Amino acid sequence: AGILVTILTVTVAVWWMAEKQNKQAQENTGTMVTGGIVAMEDNVKAFANDYAWWEAGYNAYMAGDEKWVDENFGSGIRDTQISDILVIIDPKGEIPYAWSIDDHRGTPREIFSPEIRAKIAKLAEGMPVVNEAARPAYFRVGDDIMLIAVARIAPVSRASEVDPATLPFLVQGIYLNHQRLFDLGRQFLEIDHAANASAAVEDGFPPIRDFDGNIIGAFVWTPPTPGFAVLRNVVAPIAGGLLVFCLIAMWTVLRARRLALSQALSERQAVEAARTDSLTGLTNRFGFNELSASASFEEACAKGEAAIIYLDINGFKSVNDSIGHQGGDELVGMLADRLSMILPPDARFARVGGDEFAVALTGRAALGAVAGVASAMVHALDQSFTVGGFQFEVTAAVGYAISDGGDVTPAELLGRADLAMYQAKNAAERDAVPYHPGLETGALHRKRLGMALRGAIEANELSVVYQPIVRASDLAIVSVEALVRWDSKEFGRVSPVDFIPVAEETGAIHDIGKFVFQRACQDMVDWPGLKMSINVSPAQLRDPSFANDLGAIARRHDVVPNRFKLELTEGLLVRNPTIAKRKLARLKSMGFGISLDDFGTGFSSIGYLRQFPFDWLKIDKSFISELGSNPTANALIQSMIALGDAMDIAVVAEGIETVEQLQLLRLLQCEFVQGYYLAKPMPAAGITALLAELGESRRILPALDLGGYEPSRPVLTIQS
Ligand code: C2E
Ligand code: MG
Ligand code: MG
Repeated sequence: AGILVTILTVTVAVWWMAEKQNKQAQENTGTMVTGGIVAMEDNVKAFANDYAWWEAGYNAYMAGDEKWVDENFGSGIRDTQISDILVIIDPKGEIPYAWSIDDHRGTPREIFSPEIRAKIAKLAEGMPVVNEAARPAYFRVGDDIMLIAVARIAPVSRASEVDPATLPFLVQGIYLNHQRLFDLGRQFLEIDHAANASAAVEDGFPPIRDFDGNIIGAFVWTPPTPGFAVLRNVVAPIAGGLLVFCLIAMWTVLRARRLALSQALSERQAVEAARTDSLTGLTNRFGFNELSASASFEEACAKGEAAIIYLDINGFKSVNDSIGHQGGDELVGMLADRLSMILPPDARFARVGGDEFAVALTGRAALGAVAGVASAMVHALDQSFTVGGFQFEVTAAVGYAISDGGDVTPAELLGRADLAMYQAKNAAERDAVPYHPGLETGALHRKRLGMALRGAIEANELSVVYQPIVRASDLAIVSVEALVRWDSKEFGRVSPVDFIPVAEETGAIHDIGKFVFQRACQDMVDWPGLKMSINVSPAQLRDPSFANDLGAIARRHDVVPNRFKLELTEGLLVRNPTIAKRKLARLKSMGFGISLDDFGTGFSSIGYLRQFPFDWLKIDKSFISELGSNPTANALIQSMIALGDAMDIAVVAEGIETVEQLQLLRLLQCEFVQGYYLAKPMPAAGITALLAELGESRRILPALDLGGYEPSRPVLTIQS
């Protein structure tokens, strides 16, 4: 297009300049021709004047000296050849004398018909009798146009005295034939283009008018075209220039095209590489995400014709650890090859993580095969792999989801397959796990809780309540346990039993723990002498800065650490005893007391109790609830209390809901008790009010009649 535009522009510009030059030349020649016509008329007029303003001529004519008149006037035709025709018209309108060069257009008397003569007379009206008074006129003679000049033959010496009406006319005429106009052109236009007296009137050419002003023809000539002459000269160089330009432009365009193509190709290759896993040659996570987000996959999902299989290799880390990463890579390659072989040809197989694979299937036929394929993937690993001379047994957790109901988004489908795989991994399934809605409820709810929990502190949804812990002997409040509460805008009140594990998973537990501790520090300032139990999750204890953070917060609120007891469950102690021991020792050295929460529910053994520096031991409420009804529970509680005594660890019983439970625990010499029967968890203001009400003694049930207790059947078998 650029080339065409350039050629067109140059051509039009050059043509336009030539045309402009031609037009200018035409205007110039027009001016010159007009000047030439005036000069031609002047010539004819001068000739007529010359012969008419002639004393001797007048006298001879008046004297009727025909010989003299013919010799002297007729010589104008015979000798000069300047005129074509010459006539003398007398005052009566007759033609006494007439001369012409040839008569083939008619004799002078025929040409100067009475009608013409009358017009001549009219033309001469008012013509003064002076020298150079001749008047010109044109009229048509057949195909020709004749230019005439009319003058009165007058006596020069008495011109003013004679009556003009008595004087004869001398009429001199020429035909505007080709030769004359050609001469005129040559004379005035300095060009070879002769003017022509055309019968037709042409636009832009000077018209020729007769006596009455009617147009009877025009002076026509072929205007010169100097523009075209120039054009002819420049056409060759311009065409040459354009040709060179075209060649260069074409070459540039072709080169640019070649470059663009090769760039597009390398771009395609780069894009392809970005989507490919270099180790296995399979699609990588990026490529798989792209595939699953594609319009075609979305459509397949919506139509219920898509399926996703996720596969996670179990114990891959240990392979890496034992034969190194290179061996691990080799194993991944072998795995990929083996799994590829059992997949249907149109399945899209991707490596989406170090030891994670995914398969996307679409189409009705493929869907029928999904369950079989997923199962085959599990069993494809039944046979061991040999890498670097070692044999490895690996297993895979495989989960899959089918959009068979339709109306599923790709993201949902991926989430479902992931959930199924998660289930397969957790349940250590030996076969592929299909997705079913049952998987959803627990996991999804936890996910939503986790999301909501993130903003809970900022949104002021968390609060802390305190439950008194009471000395069994006199029921005086000695301590309180801080318990976190979450009033979620989205879910209402959520139990810590539900959200603490989620907070541990998401890491929110660290902020929640600090929040509770800080709030406890603030509140306990009003409760001098009261101790405070704080629940601590294993995840918190794993945080390297945990002890320092607690110390700093306590210092900031001016509370000494030994007013606190940190309640821990056994989880961490069992999993990582060495680290736990170090951490607890550090906390103890700072002054914090340590309490073992939910004692009896985990792996508690005397060994642990001896290893760790506990101050308190909290018997889990599941034992207390069976107290009095289950002899085994009684015996167990009794031995736990004995154990505490023996190891010099104070024992707390939690979950006391009835007076019977309380009485029995007192009989069993349990040192501290906690439970709804004594006091429910309450806000800080509740504790403050309670303490004020109880006064100095802080005894929670001052009226309790301990002596009136009658157990329905013997429970303290050990005592008997
Ligand atoms: P826990 O430490 O064993 O706390 C005792 C739980 O028993 C509390 O439940 C308390 O309200 C409840 N309870 C007290 N007396 C009775 C009773 O007489 N009968 C019955 N049935 N229950 C009683 P809560 O507050 O729902 O807390 C549940 C668990 O959540 C706690 O068990 C503790 O493990 C955890 N938790 C609570 N607050 C925090 C916290 O701030 N941080 C951490 N890490 N965990 C916390
Ligand atoms: Mg507790
Ligand atoms: Mg407990």
